[in-house]
Amino acid sequence: MPAESKRVHRLRAETPVGHDDVLEGLWNAARRGRLPHALLFGGPEGIGKFLAAEFFVRGLACEGGIGPPCGRCGPCKRLLSGNYGDLHLLDIHALGKNEIRICYMTLRTDDASKKEMDGNPEDNVDTFLSLRAAEADWRIVLIRDADRMNSQAQNALLKNLEEPGERTLLVLVTSHPDRLLATIHSRCVHVGFEHLSIEECERITREHALSVERAGLLSRWSCGAPGEALELEARSAPALVQAIQDALTGASSPLVAARRAAETEGDFLGATDSARARHRAQVTCELALRVVSDRLRAAVGLGADELAFGAEVAGSPVGVTEESRLRAAVDDLLEARQDVERNMNADGILDRCFLALGRLAPPREPARAQGRNR
Ligand SMILES: [Zn+2]
Repeated sequence: MPAESKRVHRLRAETPVGHDDVLEGLWNAARRGRLPHALLFGGPEGIGKFLAAEFFVRGLACEGGIGPPCGRCGPCKRLLSGNYGDLHLLDIHALGKNEIRICYMTLRTDDASKKEMDGNPEDNVDTFLSLRAAEADWRIVLIRDADRMNSQAQNALLKNLEEPGERTLLVLVTSHPDRLLATIHSRCVHVGFEHLSIEECERITREHALSVERAGLLSRWSCGAPGEALELEARSAPALVQAIQDALTGASSPLVAARRAAETEGDFLGATDSARARHRAQVTCELALRVVSDRLRAAVGLGADELAFGAEVAGSPVGVTEESRLRAAVDDLLEARQDVERNMNADGILDRCFLALGRLAPPREPARAQGRNR
């Protein structure tokens, strides 16, 4: 194969925040020769699990000894430049794809697989593990979004989990462990990652150029998941939440607020305008669900400081507080969100979402309502 068609297995140089204890525990096990051969890194989305996995792997290979990587020795440099022979990195999202098919796990030479593998079908987990270690103790396979393996791919991976070679380490990273086969679960040691503190999240998001105010807001909304906070920023969550709040408080009519949401610019995913509009509708429904769920939690007695959207809930005019009606709205919003998967039209989904919100608004008394909003 020509060298340029080779996928690069390169790790990032950033240092993860907030997961020191978990990483130290793993390195400690490795120092004592007790590291399991298969690890499943799980936990909420956007908290830096994969960055932690990268850092962990770098720390295993560093010549300075197992622990935080020095970044300067040969293995450290080669891991960062993609020239380290004992690492196989699979990040399907970075390849611009959604599904991890079997050809990423084992050699497939049919035309479709060759095309999927960019003409480089040997670049799979099995082939990698069949080769001898190039330089280090460990042959390491690192799989991001492991839940994106289809069932064929998961079954193909099982063989390596069942009969791991000497000094083989597989690290699977996922925010949706429920999508993995029970047989995968039973062969991996689970490593749990938690949300960061709001302060840690603020610090990281500010390093990614968020203003102090935005960092505070989005760290709270994401419950301390910096990756998610940055995604919320890219998707104009503050503007969408404003439209949601306006419908909930009666400041705008539901359909006017829905049109404002529909016109909100942001980094929405999809190859076509209608796909991006559906993604925008999905993000909006998700945010509306979170705001209304927090209203419901407040209605059953949780304090504003315990809620991601507590300030929004506490700071707006009280509309409907009946638990049953709030639950009905949550159901409506869940259904609207599902319509995205059913490929329904985005405008219709947004109308439905905002009409559900409007049903929770306080009764309209124009003069008083206006005075209050001023
Ligand atoms: Zn090093």
